[in-house]
Amino acid sequence: MPIINSSKTDPNKILPIQYPWAREHYKAGVANNWVPEEISMQRDVEQWKSPTALSETERRLILWNLGFFSTAESLTANNIVLAVYHHITNPEARQYLLRQAFEEAIHTDTFIYCCDTLGLDPDEIYNMYNTIPSIHAKDSFVVDLTRVVFDPHFSTEGTANAQKFVRDLVGFYVIMEGIFFYAGFAMMLALKRQNKMVGIGEQFEFIMRDESLHLAFGCDLINTIRAEDPGIWTADFQAELVALIRRAVELEKAYAYDACPQGLLGINADQFSQYVEYIADRRLDRIGLPKQYGTRNPLPWMSQATDLAKEKNFFETRVTEYQVGAALSWD
Ligand code: MN
Ligand code: FE
Repeated sequence: MPIINSSKTDPNKILPIQYPWAREHYKAGVANNWVPEEISMQRDVEQWKSPTALSETERRLILWNLGFFSTAESLTANNIVLAVYHHITNPEARQYLLRQAFEEAIHTDTFIYCCDTLGLDPDEIYNMYNTIPSIHAKDSFVVDLTRVVFDPHFSTEGTANAQKFVRDLVGFYVIMEGIFFYAGFAMMLALKRQNKMVGIGEQFEFIMRDESLHLAFGCDLINTIRAEDPGIWTADFQAELVALIRRAVELEKAYAYDACPQGLLGINADQFSQYVEYIADRRLDRIGLPKQYGTRNPLPWMSQATDLAKEKNFFETRVTEYQVGAALSWD
């Protein structure tokens, strides 16, 4: 039975499993369990309140990333629950979507925790997706791209509609979680490497670990729909997806320069921008589209930290490196 458009799928009958990858991502997600309160914010609060611990550049970068992520996590959660879940009736895929929705709630909670502990103005942070043009541009790009699937009358029946659904999946899994999150991850982890805002940095590491799984599930879902219904994967549709991803890369670069115009100690803004190209090529490759940039990874420590090792293992569907509970271990 295909993963979309099967009237024969019984959403309550999970065994026997038809798509083992969905089950494996679920188990990996559970093994990665964490909550933000496990991470101390004591030093972050001291640094944030100190007049000298952080430069203006660093403060701007932190605010921009809290501003972007605080609302991006809810946008993602809403798409899973209100759009994707409705159209994916396969029970093991739904089990994963429920887990992912919970993880998005954890991520939303992380930004509440950050705002509360640092004493930030919630009206300012949670309005940055309206007031900061580079953030607004990213969010509205994804929302516009995926609007059609939120229509209560939308169905995935037929080639054009299946393409619309895949466009939604590319919009949230590949572009939002796979590209729009990554300049921010790189910036916050770069800061952590300099012993600045290490509590938030560690929370971003946990979020990035979760997001690499969300991305892996999303790519498996896209690739399954494509394999089951190859007629949707026309040359025109592929070209359209590539163009969307290229546009997303430009928006993410603009965001990176806006959040961190002068770069950080030892990293210039161009390197964040090159990192976005490098990441985009990996995403394209993963859903069977041609790489566009050929950019080398300018921040190899990012791969060591999370992305490469974990994505590779997800694709090999090995879960050997996960640990139960809060311990973070990537090596
Ligand atoms: Mn998330
Ligand atoms: Fe996510």
